[in-house]
Amino acid sequence: MVDLKGQYEQIKEQVNSSVLDVINSTAFINGPEVHSFQKELEEYLDVKHVIPCANGTDALQIAMMGLGLEPGDEVITADFTFAATVEVIALLRLTPVLVDVEPDSFNIDPAAIKKAITPKTKAIVPVHLFGQSANMDEIMAIAKEHDLYVIEDNAQGIGANYKFTNGNVAKTGAIGHVASTSFFPSKNLGCYGDGGAIFTNDDELAHIIRGVVNHGMYKRYHHDVVGVNSRLDSIQAAVLRTKLPNLDTYNNTRRAAARKYNKAFEGIQNIITPQVKGNNCDTDSTTICDTCDCHVFHQYTLKITNGKRDELAQHLNDKGIPCGVYYPIPLHSQKAYVDDRYNEADFPITNQLVKEVISLPMHTELDDEQIDFITRTIIDFVNS
Ligand SMILES: *Cc1c(COP(=O)(O)O)cnc(C)c1O
Repeated sequence: MVDLKGQYEQIKEQVNSSVLDVINSTAFINGPEVHSFQKELEEYLDVKHVIPCANGTDALQIAMMGLGLEPGDEVITADFTFAATVEVIALLRLTPVLVDVEPDSFNIDPAAIKKAITPKTKAIVPVHLFGQSANMDEIMAIAKEHDLYVIEDNAQGIGANYKFTNGNVAKTGAIGHVASTSFFPSKNLGCYGDGGAIFTNDDELAHIIRGVVNHGMYKRYHHDVVGVNSRLDSIQAAVLRTKLPNLDTYNNTRRAAARKYNKAFEGIQNIITPQVKGNNCDTDSTTICDTCDCHVFHQYTLKITNGKRDELAQHLNDKGIPCGVYYPIPLHSQKAYVDDRYNEADFPITNQLVKEVISLPMHTELDDEQIDFITRTIIDFVNS
């Protein structure tokens, strides 16, 4: 699905020397590399505060701890996402409220958010799924109206732009009250181990969070709040500093690959290519435009509409073509998250997507020959 080795080969000398520098410095924890990476990422995202931490799941949990959410508070998030999003809500004894997504963008449906709001609702967690921003115009408006926090799960969207209806553009993760991201190796900006970060433009919240990640300490050995231990290693920061200047190029390369996939699947029955929408782009929804970074294709995900998705996945496996089903089970049906409040009729889109979606190899080293082989194999199978 990803070619981390091929990407490493391109930046090998730089990565090796910066990692060796960290080892020679022995500043393994909170070294200057971490601080420099934090500053560089703040500048890239145009966000006031980046707080590095150990992984993307921690980042979400810490964001919620920083906001002071309390047991019983309801947090609305998407039914169609990676489990980390709902897991941390449940871990903090908050009440996850899962809602359906949009059929075209796969992102949380603002109309479903509105329906799920109760007097106990405190926050909304939009996930910028597969690299495309959720509808932040509407989500921010709903949050404002009901006085809710917006916590962006930007683990899959780093580098993506969101274009507001008024024409303003912001990077995903710099829009809500607070955001989280992951530097897991296969993410668009991945390190060589675990890593994550929290972003916010709120000075006070940033201060609180800096204490939360460090055992609740604001002054050495004074523990004012219950915190956690969550740090980004200096070695990982050194890798990330090498890769951050390439992020836009990496994302452009992904978009170029997505465009080639789209072209190959054009007009093919039973295959629906990813829709680029909800970003107020000037182009129509099936075009991946060159001018804005509104989709960074963390995943390139097709819908197979003839009921043969699982057979296709098996066929691709047999042919040695990697593929993935993200995600095969709606979160509301997962044993850990079942809740009497849910009604199957409220999840028509997620219930259908889990049967139709399949993600194809997507990374920075895909070449035309590979794309050609992958697309021909799929088209031959789907139409046989
Ligand atoms: C990867 C991911 C996470 C978790 O990140 P980790 O670094 O693996 O903890 C959270 N949310 C989403 C949507 C993700 O894709």
